[in-house]
Amino acid sequence: MQALVVDDSAVYRKLIGDHLRSWSFGVTLAESGSEAWQILQQPDAPKLVLLDWVLPDLDGIELCQRIRQAGSSGPYVYVILLTSNEGRQNMLDAMQAGADDYLVKPFDELELKARLLVGKRILDLQEQLVSARESMRHAATHDSLTGLMNRGEILGMLQRELERARREHKPVGVVLGDVDHFKSVNDTLGHLFGDEALRELGRRLRAQLRVYDGVGRYGGEEFLMILPSCDLPNTLLRANELREIVGSTPVVCSGEERLITMSMGVAVSNTDGKNELEALLNQADAGLYAAKENGRNRIEHFTSAPKKTARARKS
Ligand code: GH3
Ligand code: MG
Ligand code: MG
Repeated sequence: MQALVVDDSAVYRKLIGDHLRSWSFGVTLAESGSEAWQILQQPDAPKLVLLDWVLPDLDGIELCQRIRQAGSSGPYVYVILLTSNEGRQNMLDAMQAGADDYLVKPFDELELKARLLVGKRILDLQEQLVSARESMRHAATHDSLTGLMNRGEILGMLQRELERARREHKPVGVVLGDVDHFKSVNDTLGHLFGDEALRELGRRLRAQLRVYDGVGRYGGEEFLMILPSCDLPNTLLRANELREIVGSTPVVCSGEERLITMSMGVAVSNTDGKNELEALLNQADAGLYAAKENGRNRIEHFTSAPKKTARARKS
């Protein structure tokens, strides 16, 4: 773990730095509060700070306050404030300013080590919490089988892209794909093969898209793709590429292989912003329905959404 030692005394910087290195901490040194503040602004800055109270420019208390004011967005910074014996009475001020702990100079080596271990433990726990929160967030927004965005997340993205497109007067292309005869894939090759096929198709679609496009698992064997800034000719072109990448080579799993195809419905938002999310999805759905009706493994586009959705008519 990297620690930042902030002290205007060269003697203390060396003393603390040497101790820290002998306990396997990485060490960054700063001579003033403003230098420390600059270091803390950098990406991957140290999260453990040993901070002298009295500094030539920005003192320890002010720096603590700045760190806490800026703190909510970045990772937690654990601050141990160093003070002389006379400064001891004011330690409560330091804690209120946001220090986590303090140490009175001159300090004993063991005491310094004990404080550092507590700080390191807190920071390790904090890191575990952040990564647990991150994996929960990922699980809540992604499909566990394919790793793609789940339905809620891809619809959220579509909503955001439509809002952006409205502001920037640009179109958004939408492609709704549904695997052809997937029931028979499951029936003949088994559900596990079917699962692997969905994963593989998800990978192929993702690999074919640009980084700022989106693909999500919309339903069982349905995928929704969002192509920001794509007008109709482009969306049709790209939907056709997606269709080809899915159906060009067989899916192979456990010694079995099968050529699997997808039908797709295409829709493009109005640049004048009249097309709402639901209407766009209905259009894509109507296109998909037509693609199925017209023989599958093809793409279709509807210029206007029917009053009732294709899926509603189907059921
Ligand atoms: P169509 O060409 O008309 O779309 O025919 P289809 O057989 O694909 O359509 P249908 O809606 O009858 O069947 C969809 C199948 O997809 C049925 C369902 O069991 C299967 N399916 C949905 N989700 C999963 C999944 O997570 N894993 C597997 N293996 N199969 C799934
Ligand atoms: Mg299907
Ligand atoms: Mg389906």
